[in-house]
Amino acid sequence: MSGRVYLVGAGPGDPGLLTARALALIAAADVILYDRLIPDAALDGARADAELLFVGKEGGGPSVAQEHTQALLIERARSGRTVVRLKGGDPFVFGRGGEEALALRAAGIPFEVVPGVTAGIAASAYAGIPVTHRGLARAVALVTGQTRADGAAGAVGAEGTTGAGATAGAKAAADTELADGAEEAIDWPALAAFPGTLVLYMGVRRLAEIAAALIDAGRPRGQPAAVVEAGTLPRQRTVTGTLETIAQAAAEAQIRAPSITVIGPVSALAEELAWLPTRPLRGARAQASVLAGRLEALGASVVQAPVIRTQTILDSAHPTIDPSPYDLVCLTSANGVRALFARLHDGIHPPGDARALAGTRIAAIGVGTARALAERGIVADVIPERAVAESLVEALSGVTVERALVATARDAREVLPQALRARGTEVDVLALYETVAEPLPAERLEAVRTADYVTFTSSSTVRFLLAAAGGDARLSAGTRIVSIGPVTSETLCEHGLSPDVKAERHDVDGMVEALLADVQLRASDVQR
Ligand code: SAH
Repeated sequence: MSGRVYLVGAGPGDPGLLTARALALIAAADVILYDRLIPDAALDGARADAELLFVGKEGGGPSVAQEHTQALLIERARSGRTVVRLKGGDPFVFGRGGEEALALRAAGIPFEVVPGVTAGIAASAYAGIPVTHRGLARAVALVTGQTRADGAAGAVGAEGTTGAGATAGAKAAADTELADGAEEAIDWPALAAFPGTLVLYMGVRRLAEIAAALIDAGRPRGQPAAVVEAGTLPRQRTVTGTLETIAQAAAEAQIRAPSITVIGPVSALAEELAWLPTRPLRGARAQASVLAGRLEALGASVVQAPVIRTQTILDSAHPTIDPSPYDLVCLTSANGVRALFARLHDGIHPPGDARALAGTRIAAIGVGTARALAERGIVADVIPERAVAESLVEALSGVTVERALVATARDAREVLPQALRARGTEVDVLALYETVAEPLPAERLEAVRTADYVTFTSSSTVRFLLAAAGGDARLSAGTRIVSIGPVTSETLCEHGLSPDVKAERHDVDGMVEALLADVQLRASDVQR
């Protein structure tokens, strides 16, 4: 039987604006086809074995053809899988969701639509602009600032074509990936006369022509206007002016996609109602892994690069793990705990039952590992002071261990098994999961290279980034390298990257503290 397709809106960028239903569907999906303008963290909750397919457009590069995306949706659903089609904002607002729904209907595939918070309304709200307001605007129009000619993939020689009143000089732009509702000719007189707020999507590169066309068609040149760049994201910026001045102001501020333009008296409220708090890392950019949420909460714009996912290693020869022969089980990460429980079975209790571990001493490296155990009703016997293998070996010095199981990641360090063996313990090392890096698109690599901070939470993050960058990180001179601990610092140095900031505590909190201290130190240096 065919699987179901969910056309899901992911909201405008702030991960907090993903709906509860979107999160639940992402967590359940077998396959997720996603676009570029979805929140960075949106896929964090996806299953480790879910198939994630990027079908958007990177930078100004070619987009995956719409027909291809639709064919993929149909093919994956027909193979019986649950498919989430994840789109920025709302799927039915300039998101081509309608076209995809029609294709699914034609193919006889069941689908559901999950609305999302659309950028035009959300970015306005985050900039302090109510799109309707008593006495100022009784209606709002969502308008595309793009013509079909702009959006056509590979529109050869789009430069200089004149389709609708104002297309000159517009090439398929970076912000035009999701062009639907794009019409051959925009009816400028009708838009100019519209009795309410105009919210323009996708038009930032052509703002000058659009504004001129609206003024020509009778919209008052002095009418307030605002452009909101990267609305709801930490790097959100707002530029205000009048219909006549807004294009120039946006150009001077080097406003880029994704941006929306709000035209109408309500735009003037932006200054009075701007409410986004200034946060310590506002505007700072960092590359991160598990840190992302914490840094975002502090106002940083976080790029995950490369996105690293953990994958459970399935071992058909030993599908289950029986811990009873061991007097010590060592866990080195929360992923390891998850993977262990997925296979835990002592042959007496039901599979996955924590009682299988009842007779065994449990050691956990790191608070996150201990927390993952606690969530499963197990309080670790040994938690070394520092989250490194050496510290665990120290903590175990007074304990007799005959047989130990070290449950860990593929390619993990050998320190712990070696040290245990050196004291006469019989050690089985079990690789329960591995980390794999998603390909790193050029645009993201560039974002890393120009970031204010690049954080490394493990040696493998160093190796992954270097591999993705073709062996040479080429970070910009101003970029500060943050290391979680001595092992990671050593790996960094081995690769010619020296850490500028070293966490004193080797966990996420420790990294955030060290990074904040560095930001403050440098701010006070600048003042002096
Ligand atoms: N379906 C989406 C719109 C896709 S069209 C939605 O409902 O929001 C892409 C355009 O949306 C961009 O060119 C830009 O105009 C706008 N956009 C998307 N995310 C944005 C953001 N965070 N801030 C400002 N504009 C955004």
